[in-house]
Amino acid sequence: MTKEDILKKHKQYLFPSISTYYTDPLVTDHASMQYLWDTDGKKYLDFFGGIVTISVGHSNPRVTEKIKAQVDKLQHASTVFPNEGIVALAEKLAQITPGEISQTFPSNSGTEANETAVQLARMYTGHFEVVGLRHGYSGRSMLAQSLAGQSTWRKSLPTPAPGFVHALNPYCYRCPLGKTYPSCEVACARDVEAVIQTTTSGQIAAFLAEPIQGVGGFITPPKEYFKIVFKIVKDYGGLFISDEVQTAWGRTGKRWFGIEHWEVTPDIITSAKGLGNGVPIGVTLTRPEIAASFKGLQISTFGGNPVTSVAAKAVIDLIEEDRLMDNAQTVGDYYREGLESLKEKYGMVGEVRGMGLMQAMEFVKDPVSKEPAPASTNQFMEECRKRGLLVGKGGLYGNVIRTSPPLNISKSDVDEAIRIMDQALKALSPAVAGAAGSR
Ligand code: PMP
Repeated sequence: MTKEDILKKHKQYLFPSISTYYTDPLVTDHASMQYLWDTDGKKYLDFFGGIVTISVGHSNPRVTEKIKAQVDKLQHASTVFPNEGIVALAEKLAQITPGEISQTFPSNSGTEANETAVQLARMYTGHFEVVGLRHGYSGRSMLAQSLAGQSTWRKSLPTPAPGFVHALNPYCYRCPLGKTYPSCEVACARDVEAVIQTTTSGQIAAFLAEPIQGVGGFITPPKEYFKIVFKIVKDYGGLFISDEVQTAWGRTGKRWFGIEHWEVTPDIITSAKGLGNGVPIGVTLTRPEIAASFKGLQISTFGGNPVTSVAAKAVIDLIEEDRLMDNAQTVGDYYREGLESLKEKYGMVGEVRGMGLMQAMEFVKDPVSKEPAPASTNQFMEECRKRGLLVGKGGLYGNVIRTSPPLNISKSDVDEAIRIMDQALKALSPAVAGAAGSR
């Protein structure tokens, strides 16, 4: 099919609400490691990895080889038949997860992983209410949308389902309390308690949050935030759920899970995306006594699928063998320096934030007023694309550039990305930078 055929059929046969990037959508053809090619044969350095998902490079041959062998051997079993792939993966997960976490519920996506976690917390605690954070994103089911702290992602469910409340998020660049860190003494963390006391029955099933808010625009909390929140969650009888759909598998540098940077041991971890490096997978991970409370018959047709399980285990092994968590730290630090230098040069870059190889830039019309610059963000993406670089977007105001390259990129890839970003920023006309934008 030609590019035109694909776009025509996409329009004709897919739901129009499926959003695509760029005014001239990029139709993918093939990809290898950090590069992706479109149907016109144009090559891109991929610094978004299919929404924070390509952790060890597109079609990494060491993962693909294992997938191919498994497809030939056994492609599908369902959870009613145990298979070697899922137990090998679950055993590996038990070895790398923090604390006493050692049991896995396998599914197909981050949404399902979060659904499972909330159901589990309700069964374990006997409580119902769940606290999420403003600007959070947890998936697209009705439960997950109820957790979303962004109107953009709640169009089909304008009001959260009963039992979901939202606390202020630790967004220092735009402090919801108008304070400044550290003199604020992390006052936002106390809002979790205020929300529990004023908008719940006073006993919660869980608190669910991302160690760094992904779709929210890589909002990175101050180091004390989660420690304070953890204690509050425990005081009100809840489980602490770390949504690591974006932050796990070494993405944030040095550690397997983002939450480990915040020195909190969660009760439940959910993840997806980077674990499969492109194969659909979700996992809910917890301690045995919590897992034991998950009553009723539980089944998942594709959860624990032998092919996806083998792929995920291969991804973890590769991250370990090639010390990619260290690489994410070293190359991530180098990348961060490059982004900070862009901030020095261009007033439009209001803040650079993130950890490891999860780095973002928030674009503003003016560094003092901090008025969001969504139109310039779109234009920046177009300019990067023209020059062969793919980056993502996020943030409540659609003004945050999100980047999450494969964990095995090198400093020369970073040099190339920064060079292109520099040119793209230079190319943005003041007219565009000042214009109103849309998502
Ligand atoms: N949680 C977080 C933090 C996410 O970023 C996402 C997806 N962007 C999800 C949950 C939902 O994952 P999925 O799209 O695989 O259902």
